[in-house]
Amino acid sequence: MTDLTFTITEAERRSAEDREAVLANPGFGDHFTDHMVSIVWTQDEGWHDAEILPFGPISMNPASSVLHYGQEIFEGLKAYRRADGSIVTFRAEENARRLNDSARRMALPELPVELFVESVRKLVEIDAEWVPSGDDQTLYIRPFMIADESFLGVRAAQRARFLIIASPSGAYFTGGVKPVSIWLSQGLSRAGQGGTGAAKCGGNYAASLLPQNQAAENGCQQVLFTDSNTVDTIDELGGMNLFLVRSDNTLVTPELNGNILPGITRKSLIQLAQDRGYSVEERAVTVSEWREGVADGSITEAFACGTAAVITPIGQLKSPDFTIDFGDNAPGELTLSLREELTGIQYGTREDRHGWLEVI
Ligand code: PMP
Repeated sequence: MTDLTFTITEAERRSAEDREAVLANPGFGDHFTDHMVSIVWTQDEGWHDAEILPFGPISMNPASSVLHYGQEIFEGLKAYRRADGSIVTFRAEENARRLNDSARRMALPELPVELFVESVRKLVEIDAEWVPSGDDQTLYIRPFMIADESFLGVRAAQRARFLIIASPSGAYFTGGVKPVSIWLSQGLSRAGQGGTGAAKCGGNYAASLLPQNQAAENGCQQVLFTDSNTVDTIDELGGMNLFLVRSDNTLVTPELNGNILPGITRKSLIQLAQDRGYSVEERAVTVSEWREGVADGSITEAFACGTAAVITPIGQLKSPDFTIDFGDNAPGELTLSLREELTGIQYGTREDRHGWLEVI
C-alpha cells in the first residue's frame, strides 16, 4: 500500500450483452474496459492526483512534450482468469521495476513499485468482469507514462502522467501455435549501442515499423534485428526475445547487452528450463551459428517469447540471400512443452512454485 488515496469516478458500465459480444471474439488490443488509472507527477509535488476514471479520451495541450520529443515509456502484462473464476496477474513487480529502468533512461520519474502494483490491482478489480475466460484469452494491461509539460524547449519535462488501460484479448497470433516466419532486417535497426534498446519506450517501436512492413512484404510475421555493425549478432524481434534450442539440452539466448529488452517471459523461461536440468547460455548468438547449427542438426528448435504471444515457434528465418528452415514446419517439442508449462502456471493448472502470481 502507498499513502496515495485513489479518487474513484465510476463509469457508466456497458451492458452485459455488449460485454459478452466483445468477449466472444475480442481480437488483440482492439477493445477496452470501462475504467483507466491516472496519476500525475510534477517536479515540485511528486506523484499525486491518483484516480480511477471512466475510460476515455485525455485532453492534452498541443505543446505537450511527449507529442514532440517522444518522452514516453510503457509496459505490458496480463490478468488471467482461472477455472475457479479467480483472477491473477503474473510477475507485476517485474513490470514495475522495468518501468523504472525505462524511466531512468528516458529522464522520466520513477514510480514506487507498490504504487504500480496497487494501480494494476485496482483497475483489474473494478473491471473484473472484463477478464475473459476463454482459451488463450486474457486481460492485456497497458501501463504507460507520458511527459505532458507544455513547452517546446528540448529538456526533460517537469510534469508527467502515468496511466493504465486494459484490453480483453485473445491470442496474439491467430490460428493456434503455428511456426511463424521471420525476416532478417536489412540495414535497419531499432537500437544501437548506448541507445534506448533496453528501455520500453515508444520510439523503439516506431523505429521497428518500417522493417516490420518489409517483413510483411516478404511474407513474414515478424522482423529479427541484429547488431547493426555485424548484421549477424542477434538482438531480438520487434516485440519478442529469441531462443535457440540445441540437441545437447542447451538453450541459447542473446545476453542482455543493453540493446535488447529484458523480457519477463525470457527470464521466466530461463528459470523453467534450468529447473528441468537444461543449461541456458546467455551470450552473443549469431545468425551464422543458427544457420550452421540447423544444417548440421545441432540446433533443433527456435522460438520467440513475450507477454503478448507467450511462446511462438519460429519455422523460418528469411533474408534476400538465404532461408534457414527447420524443414517440417511443426512446432518444436521443447517449445510446446515450455509453453504448456508457463501457461499452466498462469492459468492455475500447474503449481506456481516460484511465487510468480498475484491473486486479485
Ligand atoms: N522485446 C521487445 C522489444 C518487446 O517489446 C517485448 C514485449 N514487452 C519483449 C521483448 C518481451 O518482453 P516480455 O516477456 O516482458 O513481454
